[in-house]
Amino acid sequence: MPPQNSSKVPPAENGKSVQYGQWGRAWQVDWFSLAGVVLLLCCAPGIVFFFVVTCEQYQCSISHILIDVFSGDATLGSIWEQTPSFSWMVVKIYCIWVVFQVVLYMYFPDITHKILPGYAGGVQDGARTPAGLINQYQINGLQSWIITHVLWLLNAKYFHWFSPTIIFDNWIPLLWCTNILGYAVSTFAFIKAYLFPTNPEDCKFSGNVLYDYMMGVEFNPRIGKWFDFKLFFNGRPGIVAWTLINLSYAAKQQELYGYVTNSMILVNVLQALYVLDFFWNEAWYLKTIDICHDHFGWYLGWGDCVWLPFLYTLQGLYLVYNPIQLSTHHAAGVLALGLVGYYIFRSTNHQKDLFRRTEGTCSIWGRKPTFIECKYYSADGTPHKSKLLTSGFWGVARHFNYTGDLMGSLAYCAACGGGHLLPYFYFVYMTILLVHRCVRDEHRCGAKYGEDWKRYTAAVPVRLLPGLF
Ligand code: NDP
Repeated sequence: MPPQNSSKVPPAENGKSVQYGQWGRAWQVDWFSLAGVVLLLCCAPGIVFFFVVTCEQYQCSISHILIDVFSGDATLGSIWEQTPSFSWMVVKIYCIWVVFQVVLYMYFPDITHKILPGYAGGVQDGARTPAGLINQYQINGLQSWIITHVLWLLNAKYFHWFSPTIIFDNWIPLLWCTNILGYAVSTFAFIKAYLFPTNPEDCKFSGNVLYDYMMGVEFNPRIGKWFDFKLFFNGRPGIVAWTLINLSYAAKQQELYGYVTNSMILVNVLQALYVLDFFWNEAWYLKTIDICHDHFGWYLGWGDCVWLPFLYTLQGLYLVYNPIQLSTHHAAGVLALGLVGYYIFRSTNHQKDLFRRTEGTCSIWGRKPTFIECKYYSADGTPHKSKLLTSGFWGVARHFNYTGDLMGSLAYCAACGGGHLLPYFYFVYMTILLVHRCVRDEHRCGAKYGEDWKRYTAAVPVRLLPGLF
């Protein structure tokens, strides 16, 4: 029998409603959320397949594949017949890749924090869970990223064990492998939550199996002391792979056309900046929604294994089939948009991190920060205090970090010119993801902080962009 969690009835605090342990995903599932879950479970794998096949068979032209399908020139059967099939050779390659990342994660404790000034690696504390626990994490993502990429470059230049285009060349067979891992890990995490959960007090059972499978039951599933599912699957096979996939696309352009376009270089550079930023700030990532709020289910497990590597890299894939050389003005505009977006994204995240780490005894934009004092309760009813920053970028909007992220996303897409819709999918997706995340987060913060959250939203009324949202 799963533990029967229920939101405890809060004490009336000056007549205000405050709830215990109210962070993490929803306790009750409404019909709207359930419909969304079913839709995503059914459609997300198809969306990934559609985009990859559109590139492989229609040079990334959505209009061409749709015209062919609707005019009857192509059927789903004929498209499927031309799609590369499952390959045991690729399964072996993928297994080597995943095992290599596991070994780097588990058996190479971080030494880069001893070498690189300002980098916070090694054993770090996560945020307090709803049950009041503080987990420890071995932060060694930057080290894994460096080792993997040095080996990749050494191979390309000297060893030639495999072709640098290996990822592109096996892209669809790899899609089958990543799906197998994505489903396996999500299903394992789901069963584990019932049979041997890591922290039973942090599990949430909504009573709806589909919702629980999708959104996860366990908060921080682990095997042993250090193998943390969330940290590993999001960071390692997913984000370490991101830059390798882009390098493989650049290598393919070189092989096919004898040169690499400036658009491909821009996509590689801007996305590498984002990836390196993630690993440089991996300890900070422990305080983000993925780790602090989301439970580990299909949404994170399958999403990290399949959605992230295949759809976050669509621009590079598009540029292999459509080698666009941008004018200097266009390239400079894309670079400027990407860098300004990155600056806003990083500075906003940094301001919150600095503010929280120093408990407000820091300087934001040259001044003492302003903030709102908040109170919240963990699931056992213990009260805790927190602060919500209201100055710097956090005084401009409640999620200006998302705005910066969206500007960066638009820059990657704009590097692909205006010829096709497909590379812009990433921007559309990020807008939906971050707007939904913003609403989700605010709903949770409202439940967590009660009246204090209302005082905060009155002080900072804008969510993402002044005058718009
Ligand atoms: P945030 O870093 O904005 O974290 C939100 C949390 O911060 C809230 O739940 C609250 O948590 C706390 N908080 C909110 N307002 C304040 C404030 N004024 N002062 C101090 N703390 C506050 O969100 P995410 O974790 O979603 O995102 C982190 C970054 O990752 C973002 O820049 C986002 O763009 C990026 N991202 C990228 C994705 C991608 O796929 N590329 C996906 C998701 C995110 P608490 O309970 O501690 O108060």
